[in-house]
Amino acid sequence: MLFKQLFDKTSSTFTYLIASSKGREALIIDPVLENVDIYIKLLKELDLKLVKVIDTHIHADHITAASKLNEKTNCSTIMGEHTPAESVQIKVKDDEIIKIDDLNFRAIYTPGHTSDSYSFLMNNYLFSGDTLLINGTGRTDFQNGNSRDAYNSIFNKLLKLPEETLLYPAHDYNGKKVSSIGQEKKFNPRLQVNSENEYEEIMNNLNLPKPKLMDINVPRNIKLGAFV
Ligand code: FE
Repeated sequence: MLFKQLFDKTSSTFTYLIASSKGREALIIDPVLENVDIYIKLLKELDLKLVKVIDTHIHADHITAASKLNEKTNCSTIMGEHTPAESVQIKVKDDEIIKIDDLNFRAIYTPGHTSDSYSFLMNNYLFSGDTLLINGTGRTDFQNGNSRDAYNSIFNKLLKLPEETLLYPAHDYNGKKVSSIGQEKKFNPRLQVNSENEYEEIMNNLNLPKPKLMDINVPRNIKLGAFV
């Protein structure tokens, strides 16, 4: 297996490239439009064929490269079935398996940050989108976000995974790159609550500013990054 974590400085987004060393098939999670050339170059250098691209949810802080990558490589575009993006080619259900060669990615429906948020588990690698972050959790105050759904997704789904599961989120703003379920359970300040109500209380009082380019990015991302 081949694994690369790429970082977009402008939006603090992590993009993941995972490939099978056997058949050279590759999959990209949460690509950023401005970095398409970097991905194409990397795929070429590593002699990989991009076959699938996943967006964990409709992002507000950057534009996805999904449609551009589809155009350039003919890869399939994938999102969870709750996505408002009509042009997504493969819409996966909760618990559905996405395959590239011998690698399996299990889709886990984890609404809360947005109503269309999915996480993906490959062996002990958890790609959590913005559902669970390192020392944080995704905000729940726009795109049909819901703090009670988020609580359920985090506590009853993601935190039920083995403690050694590696956590690879879609963002980090503090220079962290990876964590684990066990570490987050112990140290993530948002998770030190005793009830859904307590979590809701925290999330309802974050008072975060609206993401700067949200009104441009969300409509673009509903078209998978193509021009509206
Ligand atoms: Fe997000």
